Amino acid sequence: MSGVIDVSARIPDRLTFWQRLYLPEIFRGMAVTLRHLVLNVVNPRRMPTIQYPEQKRNYSARFRGKHILKTREDGTLKCVACYMCAQACPAECITIVAGEHPKIAYEKYPVVFDIDMMRCVFCGYCVDACPKDAIWMTRNYEMAFFTREEAVFSIDRLRESKAEIDAHGYGYRPYYPGDGTTPPTDASRLPVVAGSGERDALRQAGVALPNRHVGAGPLNATSQAAKFTA
Ligand code: SF4
Ligand code: SF4
Repeated sequence: MSGVIDVSARIPDRLTFWQRLYLPEIFRGMAVTLRHLVLNVVNPRRMPTIQYPEQKRNYSARFRGKHILKTREDGTLKCVACYMCAQACPAECITIVAGEHPKIAYEKYPVVFDIDMMRCVFCGYCVDACPKDAIWMTRNYEMAFFTREEAVFSIDRLRESKAEIDAHGYGYRPYYPGDGTTPPTDASRLPVVAGSGERDALRQAGVALPNRHVGAGPLNATSQAAKFTA
């Protein structure tokens, strides 16, 4: 088949006298190494080695690197804590704790959203499973850790940031018609009209609402919590 390299060992049936001596073959191998060493020193640009971190390989536009959690225009996470990514994850490395969102249009949000990068196999199934276009991957592969705890990325490190996208660019993500970035029907992108779905207002009006999460929850960031409780 064309394009397939045969790497099976070609062992001759019988070794010659010089092959059985071994030393000539060892010197022949060392001569090959020495030739490449000299050629690389004389002309370093012929070396296939990438001089990381000064040089970086330009990976594909759909490279599966570090995840990001996408945000709405108001800065809150698009994630509605539906657990579908965690269910799809073959490495079981996503941990989500859902909280009740003050805006009834969103219903839930992740109080905790952790990905254990040491267990992640960067398959992208979580991206494919998400119905809210809330989790993408970047082309950021620069993740090194000294402890296992450092490898667990929480919302603070997963929330999308302009600096990270400028530095690494988007990687694996769903592609949609048009400019490829907007799902055809994504209710989470629609504006939430003030007063049309606020839980506090509805409670004060005497409407019974289910309360699955006790406590306010951090709402992903203190500044965002201030927006919702104002
Ligand atoms: S890329 Fe794959 S292994 Fe990693 S969190 Fe997503 S589903 Fe799990
Ligand atoms: S990232 Fe997507 S799939 Fe995962 S919990 Fe959030 S909304 Fe659901």
